[in-house]
Amino acid sequence: MSTPEREHVSSAERLFFALWPDDALRQQLVQCRDTLAADSDGGRLVPAENLHLTLAFLGRTGIRQRACVEAMADVIKCSAFELQLNRFGYWPRPQVLWIAPLEMPEALITLATALHTGAEGCGSKLDARPYRAHITLMRKLTQAAQDVDCPPLIWPVDRFVLVRSRALPQGVKYEVLREWGLGEESFEG
Ligand code: ATP
Ligand code: MG
Repeated sequence: MSTPEREHVSSAERLFFALWPDDALRQQLVQCRDTLAADSDGGRLVPAENLHLTLAFLGRTGIRQRACVEAMADVIKCSAFELQLNRFGYWPRPQVLWIAPLEMPEALITLATALHTGAEGCGSKLDARPYRAHITLMRKLTQAAQDVDCPPLIWPVDRFVLVRSRALPQGVKYEVLREWGLGEESFEG
């Protein structure tokens, strides 16, 4: 007989909040990724459909905790913003090549902070390291790309999403579960 606690554990999903590129931006990211790959030794391309920018990684999340983080996201007030992806970098320890904004828009900091704080309030254990917004383009690259020949990309951000991550034999698969719009800043009281 399964206990409620065991049910809770077995139904836990691996969740994260993210910014999800639309098809046009995804295509531009793919072009950029492929240009960088051509100048790199080895490495694995992040599949086109997996390209994203993590806002807050929640990890294993049970049903009640998921309801809590969704309710938390429902009441987030954050304006839409423009993200300029104009910086490339390489982290040698995880061996990932990424693209990121050189400048973090205030609204992105507000949004990520609200999600982190709200998720912690729901019992999620978030990464204690400072948040670094980035989109991973390649993994398992033993050294940084030699030449970075990608134009800066402009991302008008007007929504964020909750994603489920599943490890499948053929690789990680992400499913967008829900999305929330970002609006103009409210001028009400
Ligand atoms: P895999 O782990 O199979 O290589 P992945 O890293 O893309 O694939 P997840 O581990 O589910 O898939 O991570 C989903 C997203 O959350 C990725 O953007 C990942 O960088 C980020 N992430 C994962 N773990 C953490 C963490 N502890 N803190 C912050 N972000 C994380
Ligand atoms: Mg991972």
